[in-house]
Amino acid sequence: MTLVKTSRDSGLKRRRFLVGAGVTAGAGALARHLPLNVIQPATAADAVPARPNTEVKHTVCSHCSVGCSVEAVVSNGVWIRQEAAFDSPINMGAHCAKGASVREHGFGEHRLRYPMKLVNGKYERITWDQAINEIGDRLLKLREQSGPDALMVIGSSKHNNEQSYLLRKWVSMWGSNNCDHQARICHSTTVAGVAQTYGYGAMTNSFNDLHYSKAVLFIGSNPAEAHPISMLHFLHAKELGAKMIVVDPRFTRTARFAHHYVRIRPGTDIAFVWGMLWHIFNNGWEDKEYIAARTYGMDDVRKEVAKWTPDKVSDVTGVPEASVRMAAEMLATNRPSSVVWCMGITQHHVGTANVRALSILQLALGNIGVQGGGANIYRGHDNVQGATDVGPNGDSLPGYYGIAEGAWKHFSTVWGVDYDWVKSRFGSKELMEKPGITVSRWFDAVLEDNQYVDQPTNLRAVFYWGHAPNSQTRLPDMKAAMQKLDFMVVIDPYPSMTAAMHGRTDGVYLLPAASQFETQGSVTASNRSIQWRERVIQPLFECKTDHEIMYLFARKLGFGEQLVKNIKVVNNEPVIEDILREINRSCWTIGYTGCSPERLKLHMEHKRDFNPTTMRAESGPCKGDYYGLPWPCWGTPEMKHPGTPILYDLHKPVAEGGLPFRANWGVEHNGEPLLAADGSFTKDSEIDTGYPEFDHVFLKKLGWWAELTPEEQVQAEGKNWKTDLSGGIIRVVIAHGCAPFGNARARCNVWNFPDPVPTHREPLVTPRRDLVAKYPTYDDKAAFWRLPTLYKSVQAVDFSKDYPLIMTSGRLVEYEGGGEETRSNPWLAELQQNMFCEVNPEDAAQIGVKLGEFMWVETPTGARLKLMAMVTPRVPVGLVWMPFHFGGWWMGEDLEKHYPDGGAPAVRGEAVNTGWTYGYDAVTMMQETKVSLCRLVRA
Ligand code: SF4
Repeated sequence: MTLVKTSRDSGLKRRRFLVGAGVTAGAGALARHLPLNVIQPATAADAVPARPNTEVKHTVCSHCSVGCSVEAVVSNGVWIRQEAAFDSPINMGAHCAKGASVREHGFGEHRLRYPMKLVNGKYERITWDQAINEIGDRLLKLREQSGPDALMVIGSSKHNNEQSYLLRKWVSMWGSNNCDHQARICHSTTVAGVAQTYGYGAMTNSFNDLHYSKAVLFIGSNPAEAHPISMLHFLHAKELGAKMIVVDPRFTRTARFAHHYVRIRPGTDIAFVWGMLWHIFNNGWEDKEYIAARTYGMDDVRKEVAKWTPDKVSDVTGVPEASVRMAAEMLATNRPSSVVWCMGITQHHVGTANVRALSILQLALGNIGVQGGGANIYRGHDNVQGATDVGPNGDSLPGYYGIAEGAWKHFSTVWGVDYDWVKSRFGSKELMEKPGITVSRWFDAVLEDNQYVDQPTNLRAVFYWGHAPNSQTRLPDMKAAMQKLDFMVVIDPYPSMTAAMHGRTDGVYLLPAASQFETQGSVTASNRSIQWRERVIQPLFECKTDHEIMYLFARKLGFGEQLVKNIKVVNNEPVIEDILREINRSCWTIGYTGCSPERLKLHMEHKRDFNPTTMRAESGPCKGDYYGLPWPCWGTPEMKHPGTPILYDLHKPVAEGGLPFRANWGVEHNGEPLLAADGSFTKDSEIDTGYPEFDHVFLKKLGWWAELTPEEQVQAEGKNWKTDLSGGIIRVVIAHGCAPFGNARARCNVWNFPDPVPTHREPLVTPRRDLVAKYPTYDDKAAFWRLPTLYKSVQAVDFSKDYPLIMTSGRLVEYEGGGEETRSNPWLAELQQNMFCEVNPEDAAQIGVKLGEFMWVETPTGARLKLMAMVTPRVPVGLVWMPFHFGGWWMGEDLEKHYPDGGAPAVRGEAVNTGWTYGYDAVTMMQETKVSLCRLVRA
């Protein structure tokens, strides 16, 4: 959908680009693997010209988490064209517009070219030496005056796994937990919700596995635009007869494919899911055997669900009873059925509870651990899963080890440094073990009165390292904080909106980072497959790779030697393969241990051998492996574990990718067993009932200790499967058919969460004031992720009279994330040139605005956004929808002149997050971006 489409060159340039990018060839290749009629084979692109010094580099699209492969043709060091990797089992020769235009990174006219510093309101060129020394000196002074927690490092879900891991290590050695990345604001609630229910914080199946689904519920997700190539897999399932249900307040491009579309009031997902379960339980459609053997606390859910009679569900959600029933019946009677969710579910003040309601729905239907079933959570950036797994999280070291003393000791050993030295880097042991400030709230840690900030000082400096500020809410507050900081540093291939919005005259540094096509390393797709990217071209201009920048700063700050103790450094670049080997040696919890650089490179080289439905190699040197060794890939690389394509699948032995639910919460709770029932175990397991996680004591009791080698016994003594660096415990346990993490029940009642059973709570800023008393939000909290956090005091204010429309936001197919990168890409910029707001014809008529005219969207914070009206019945009366990828305007003003020369993106517009109101998830501090109120005024 393009609001105003103008062509700068009669389309000729674009056609040439599409042919050059290999899009047409991609469609042909797709037809080879899937009998899809959705895309017609077209004329193949020109063959790769036989030029001297021409080679094909294998890489992965950096725009979303589907993980489409790209073949980059490079001649004499210049990236001359790209193909869509016909052999990839994930994209099978297809790309969406974003993937088809990644070659633009090889030219990047809008990119940062050299380090810059803001002087008297103008960016001036400086050298790298000056940048590292000057920023380094300021950091050292800051540390001396206020301690290490005065710095916040906002990392990136676009860093590869090795860079993400190195950044978490960097911040740890600096001495703080104040680090975060984009997962906080897209899927932190998913990670918390599914991990606390099943055991791991990740999508259970794969995009390809949808081929086996007989029904799919898409709720709060719009893959036709957000994850376009994933739709090919679903459309294949649909051709085979799968039913499609789409639940969304807006009639999306995904909804137009649906057999059953459900228009829901934003912020009422739990009521809707309980409404479905009400019909499922009432009709006996649940999987009773599965519930009895593999779940804990379903009876507590039954009690809550019993309250959600059809009349109540319709009143709260706005969905007619028949529609709720039809969705329930379609999902329950066409099994295996899958549920797909995205940010429509996660970005709420009840985001974690939303996730858990859906996780429970799938347990009730027996759909978890099943081919064609699953909780399929499509993540955003290309490496949001990997950066979450091993990267900069404020409450965990890599591999979800947490930040308690044992975790620090484990990583001190792995890093080859003394635990007491690491401890000495922090303000105190207490701060070392306290979760850090989140990216969603860092500005409150600057602005808040220090007596309310749960650390010795306020934040005084921020690094924005590959992260767009316009993807966070409450931008006016962020701008005020930016002005109060001592200084800020932006490290990015593009000058994100950070460079233009701050309103400062000094104290800002812009450092040019290389893109992911100018380095190599591994990247984890949403389905947990890990793919190896080759370096396509050398860094452009004066750009440096992120890991080189980390090393240069560490050296300046005095911990360079410790950062790379086990990692070779060549020309100031820590060797990526060595970093991955360190991840392999440490992250046993999630099985990032079997995926050596050599195995990953072999998979990339032999993509053609993997079946596009099962993802398993049917021949060749990777025979038996699943594509990308989806984690957990247990044990050492020598163990040759094939990866785990479907989590919690009892039908396979653990050695072949099977798994039960994880035992992570003890053996019983309130007298009820938490371990799996007798007879519930993975294929070929020697223990035919539930069992706890393995450690040295359990191994000895079972008589399996002698199977460790003498060397392994030395290392494993006193350890468990997560901390035994020899990997011996895991090797022996899997040889007996067992899962290292035990065999437990999934938890429907998470007793340590604010809502042990998910409970509907009205949005903080709601038009349904009549429901606030009945379904109130949480009490305010004094110290939550180091900050006071408001709930009831926000909900108490009635904004509905002055702001009568519900506002919500989402994605476009043309752009990604904060959008600087894609809005700087001329091929994509041409497709969508204006920030807009979808408004129903009736609401548009109220203010007399027509399609394409400007209007103001005003919100309760006092923010005013000037944007074009997209008048459409896709949104219902009373609701407006805006895309979140725009930036570069500030309440009507174009900020172009505030960017460094030539650095402003081609397309600029208001950031919807400028207007977003207060609201944070009660577990993870996820920001609320899906339901608030606004009013429209004709411009
Ligand atoms: S943006 Fe996503 S779906 Fe599109 S080509 Fe890239 S990875 Fe594939």
